Amino acid sequence: MADQDTRAQLAEHLRMARELGVEGLSRDPAWRARAEDAVPRRPFVADSAERPSSEESFANADVERVPAGASEREMLPMIRDDIGDCTRCKLHTLGRRQIVFGVGNPAADLMFIGEAPGADEDIQGIPFVGRAGQLLTKIIEAIGLTRDEVYIANIIKCRPPENRNPEPDEVAACNPFVVRQVQAIRPKVIVALGSFAAQTLLRTKDPISRLRGNIFTYGDAQLIPTFHPAYLLRSPERKRDVWEDMKKVRNLLQADAPDPS
Ligand code: SF4
Repeated sequence: MADQDTRAQLAEHLRMARELGVEGLSRDPAWRARAEDAVPRRPFVADSAERPSSEESFANADVERVPAGASEREMLPMIRDDIGDCTRCKLHTLGRRQIVFGVGNPAADLMFIGEAPGADEDIQGIPFVGRAGQLLTKIIEAIGLTRDEVYIANIIKCRPPENRNPEPDEVAACNPFVVRQVQAIRPKVIVALGSFAAQTLLRTKDPISRLRGNIFTYGDAQLIPTFHPAYLLRSPERKRDVWEDMKKVRNLLQADAPDPS
């Protein structure tokens, strides 16, 4: 039975890898080459005096700092308590059912940050549970992890009406909470899902098509922008690009992992 389960999981993993554009597996050592060997790391560099670097954005966020000695498990509930039944922006009057805080391992090495809850997330109170969420789960599993091992959150915690883009005042009010979540979790790698998350975290207006393919720094983490799973549902031909980004994520995580030998 265990062998059957393993075979079924392996078959699902390979099927997803194929969907993401992986054409085969190889014993070639280059297949396991570290991201730093293959991808030049590009620190985020502000290109204008008005645009602060992501590090400045992280450090200067108008948020409470993590108390010394507080563990991730203690910090996340404190942040959730601070949000409370939030009325800090107008989204609380525009039909939200509940606040969608975040889900996953509070000590995760890998964190995914998306834009805002959709209809399914608003109902369930969990980020990325609709069709896009199911695709995100497959993307996570394609690099050998599970949803329970990573942390998933959004920039905006309440569903915008008709899934419209969040507005600047809403971002200003809500962004400090995801910054605090990052400070609490201290992931090694952050994947910014889609234009909105990448642009907000990196304080840039560059489109995701220009941002992806690069590795940025965000606080102590390395940040990889990639396409949002909802976009992949509309444009499946871009799965190959996401797979390339996820290979970098996997390699960055492995680069820091202790040598098992
Ligand atoms: Fe509060 Fe954020 Fe919801 Fe606005 S979107 S009401 S700031 S939790």
